[in-house]
Amino acid sequence: MATNIGFIGLGNMGGPMAANLVKAGHKVSGFDLSEAALAALEAAGGSRAESVADLAEGADVIVTMLPAGAHVRKIYQGEGGILDNARPGTLLIDSSTIDVDSARVVAAAAADKDMPMVDAPVSGGVGGATAGTLTFMVGGPDNAFAAAKPFLDVMGKTIVHAGDAGTGQAAKICNNMILGISMIGVSEAFVLAERLGLDPQKLFDISSTASGQCWALTSYCPVPGPLPSSPANRDYQPGFAAEMMLKDLKLAQDAAHSSGAGTPLGAQAAALYSLFCNSGGEGVDFSGIVKYLRGTS
Ligand code: NAD
Repeated sequence: MATNIGFIGLGNMGGPMAANLVKAGHKVSGFDLSEAALAALEAAGGSRAESVADLAEGADVIVTMLPAGAHVRKIYQGEGGILDNARPGTLLIDSSTIDVDSARVVAAAAADKDMPMVDAPVSGGVGGATAGTLTFMVGGPDNAFAAAKPFLDVMGKTIVHAGDAGTGQAAKICNNMILGISMIGVSEAFVLAERLGLDPQKLFDISSTASGQCWALTSYCPVPGPLPSSPANRDYQPGFAAEMMLKDLKLAQDAAHSSGAGTPLGAQAAALYSLFCNSGGEGVDFSGIVKYLRGTS
């Protein structure tokens, strides 16, 4: 059944996600600060709203895909924002990657207005957004998850209900903290192997079937050769850019500080990705940290 969907934030990710909702037969009205993003939605068969308030008044479902927590708080809670203009009962889906605290504050304010809300950050990148194969990690009450699921199914392939409000964001940053730490660990091992005269292919063959096995090694190997699909074979073109990894590691550190969790390796990973980005690596795939560790970036 066609639903009136408002979509705010039609960038690299939001643009193709909104286009997939149009393709599924929904009426999608979009809002963005970028004229090019609005024109792209119109070309895909959607329409443009004149303001957040205009979009919110006519929507049964609102999806947001914005850069960071400050943008999300402003668009939902600011003057002329979603919560002041949408009808009670409007389903709210925030797919931006933001800090857990902002996600929980906005969800509580939405609940006060009788608007079911989920935080539903994604993994899968622009390729997954375009193909409709994203993974959604979803936080929010059961009724909001059930209402959001059919729309998330259009934009993604794997939809996981992580728990209450904020747990979608928690899952995203915990997963990416594992990934950042493990990519550094695997990269350090290849740098040491090179110094010791051990062929990288041999290290891959041995560790991929031994206790050093992990996703960063066997699905995203940071040196060229062993795994033809990994960005190392295309001069570290992203993929998943180091600056995006740094954003997620900083969010993990914010959450660790506010919750009191001890995450010393997460802190080290954030520091190393910060140095790598500051030395020109921000647009490089995050597996390119191996060049920084080797001293060749
Ligand atoms: P992007 O910068 O391409 O898009 C963000 C869009 O939001 C832009 O078009 C911008 O004009 C719009 N915007 C900003 N402020 C606005 C406002 N006040 N009103 C209306 N529109 C506004 O970013 P992206 O790559 O699409 O990422 C969006 C979110 O998805 C981020 O939180 C990011 O961390 C997350 N994410 C991105 C990827 C990826 O591979 N790009 C992967 C997973 C998650």
